[in-house]
Parts: sequence; structure tokens; C-alpha cells
Amino acid sequence: MTSRPVKTVSELCLACGLCCDGSLFGFVALSDEEAERLRGHGLTVDAKGERLGLRLRCGGLQGRCCSLYGERPQGCRTFVCTVARRFEAQALTGEEAMNVVSEAQARIAALGQRLDPPRASDVMQAVRDGQADPQAPFSDSLREEARDTQRFVAQHFFGWS
Ligand code: SF4
Ligand code: SF4
Repeated sequence: MTSRPVKTVSELCLACGLCCDGSLFGFVALSDEEAERLRGHGLTVDAKGERLGLRLRCGGLQGRCCSLYGERPQGCRTFVCTVARRFEAQALTGEEAMNVVSEAQARIAALGQRLDPPRASDVMQAVRDGQADPQAPFSDSLREEARDTQRFVAQHFFGWS
């Protein structure tokens, strides 16, 4: 797969959005002050145990861009995935970084088409829910494809070997 090369991390992130749409993880923790501020912007704040946070896909995501960029919480400001870090360190070219993002997007989209009913968004959240539910209508091959996609994401975006 060959993608249009990007020149900056911002450009890469604007073409990606996987850390905001629930593909990489499902929750961003918030401080009380951030929760209050983001509620003021119309976002829904959820609780996970004792922690407040944004359930992803984030309501602030428009297309693949954060509509609250200047107001985004600390958890969003500090997260930089391994693809972006390696690109910044020139260990990946802009084309290589975009290839990883495009392949992740393509794998997630393909997985979404195998769900019942098929879905184009919130695919990995639906997959995580299905994996946690023994009654979910997931065939063995779907479970295997889901694990492959999760391995790809973990390897490239979190640097897991
Ligand atoms: S997953 Fe990485 S490349 Fe994609 S938007 Fe987040 S930080 Fe940027
Ligand atoms: S606040 Fe912005 S950066 Fe944070 S998860 Fe939502 S869309 Fe992404």
C-alpha cells in the first residue's frame, strides 16, 4: 500500500484520528476541571470506576480532526503514538508513516464490514465489546482477524513487539 507522503506530524494526525475515534483505546481520563470545561463545550463526560473521562469515539472529533484542539485535555496533549514519534525522529519517512496509518484504517474498515450488522465507524469499540461477550456472534475467523488487527495496532502505534 502506498500513501501520499506527509511532511509534518500535524499533517499525519489530520489524516489519521485513530487515537480519538476509539480505534486505539476507548477512554481518555479527565481531571474535574477538564470535565467541567468540556461539558461546557457540549461533550458528554462519562465515568469509569472513580475516574471521569471521555468515552471514544470522542464527541469533539469532526471527521479526523479535533474541534477543540486548543481546549483538549492533558491526556490528549501528552499522547503521541509510536508512528508519530518515529516519524518525528526521522526513523520513518512521511510516506512510511502514512502507509502504516492507511493500513490500520484499511484493516479496521475491513473488520467493520465483517461485523453483524456491518459498520463503518466505532469498529474497534464494537470488536472490544464483542470480545468481552461470549454470546456475541463472532466466528473463530472473525476473532482471529480482530486479534491480528489489534496486534498490528499495538505493534505500530504503541511500539509493542
Ligand atoms: S494515532 Fe498517532 S498519528 Fe494518529 S492521530 Fe493519534 S497521534 Fe496522530
Ligand atoms: S478532545 Fe480532541 S484530541 Fe481529545 S479525544 Fe477528543 S477529539 Fe481527540
